[in-house]
Amino acid sequence: MLTAVVGVNWGDEGKGRMVDLLSRDYDVVVRYQGGNNAGHTVVNEYGKFALNLIPCGIFREGVLNVLGTGMVIDLEHIKNEIEELRHRGLKITPDNFRISEKAAVCLPYHRLLDELEEDRLGKGAQGSTRRGIAPAYSDKYYRKAIRVGDVLSPETLEAKLLPVVGFKNALLRGYGAAEITIAETAAWLLENGSFLAPFICNTEKLMDEAAEQGKNIMLEAQLGTLRDLDFGIYPYTTSSNALAAYAPIGAGIPGRRLDRVIGIVKAYSSSVGGGPFTVEMTGDEAEALREAGGEYGAATGRPRRVGAFDVVASRFGVKMQGASSLALTKLDVLSYMDKIPVCVAYDINGVRTTDFPTGDELEAAKPVFEYLPGFCTDISKCRSLDELPKAAVDYVRFIEKAVGAPIEYISVGPERGDYMELPKVL
Ligand code: GDP
Repeated sequence: MLTAVVGVNWGDEGKGRMVDLLSRDYDVVVRYQGGNNAGHTVVNEYGKFALNLIPCGIFREGVLNVLGTGMVIDLEHIKNEIEELRHRGLKITPDNFRISEKAAVCLPYHRLLDELEEDRLGKGAQGSTRRGIAPAYSDKYYRKAIRVGDVLSPETLEAKLLPVVGFKNALLRGYGAAEITIAETAAWLLENGSFLAPFICNTEKLMDEAAEQGKNIMLEAQLGTLRDLDFGIYPYTTSSNALAAYAPIGAGIPGRRLDRVIGIVKAYSSSVGGGPFTVEMTGDEAEALREAGGEYGAATGRPRRVGAFDVVASRFGVKMQGASSLALTKLDVLSYMDKIPVCVAYDINGVRTTDFPTGDELEAAKPVFEYLPGFCTDISKCRSLDELPKAAVDYVRFIEKAVGAPIEYISVGPERGDYMELPKVL
């Protein structure tokens, strides 16, 4: 079985905790896009982790975790992440972890150029995490990337770097910044590359063998629909495709093998970085939700923007992902609300719509709210629908109907066991 686990919203839906949970039934977990610019939080018997690059199946014995070709990988960051996880008692060997030789490398000059460009933009900055992800993807599409497998051939590395470093220096001169050298860049690649060499391989071959053997493979997204490079809120998107349709490409496995798409949807909204966020709360209302949900970035610590559940954006998210079922996360966070706001439509210049708009129309959208009764009680110990208060079940049913896909799981706390599985009839 091939399953994609994807974010329906703006990211930070709780994909990591669901991958950690559901990977119990899988043999392989593959990250298919993005870099170390976001983090998945996992809380389990090993402790609390914020994984930037390593797939969240790493905690399961016998699961092979793969960094797919669709990613951009900062070799220094992945080395540090491996060392940190080992330090915390996890076993990471080529038996349970591999890196695609064809993934693009995110280098120090990408970080530098990310910084320089954000600084140049000043107030109009894109809100980049400044980890070099956009410059690294740009190089990939410009066909100027160093790929992970290149570090295995030191004898040809300098020749590959020659045109790239020249190009980077032309840019750096434009910014008035110090130039870089081939020697320092090669040294960085070789130093980190020698540590990573045992993990680097042809991962599409691994995928093919696993699929042919009938193994269960999970494809793990990094961000949500609305940050997808093509279909998200461009230009406030990430620099890669987060959609499930891209997952097989980023993992190196034929699209026809995809059986199932589990959309992770949060019981309310949050967003990191810039761009329109129609349901955004402000002041005390926002502070209360941010505190209740612990809405601070896993990779950056930045406070997240928060808001009510957005039916318009989430239904678009479900459709674009082709979600066959959903996991509704963080329902417990809403326990403090007397009445729960839900954005059911947008008002755009006096016209009501339930179609998710783009561009200037989205900038002009105002939320139209309905209010559902709050459940006003701690639900974090509930393990079945029967144990949930009626108002919570009503909220779940409302969302399911509004976004148009069945809810299969509900999570009510950050720990692995804090969830319930729903009967298919809901
Ligand atoms: P991801 O990038 O989609 O994996 O999400 P993040 O890790 O950035 O953010 C999710 C946050 O919510 C993490 O801090 C999780 O520990 C936490 N979390 C996940 N599921 C639940 C839940 O059901 N209830 C609560 N209270 N916290 C949760």
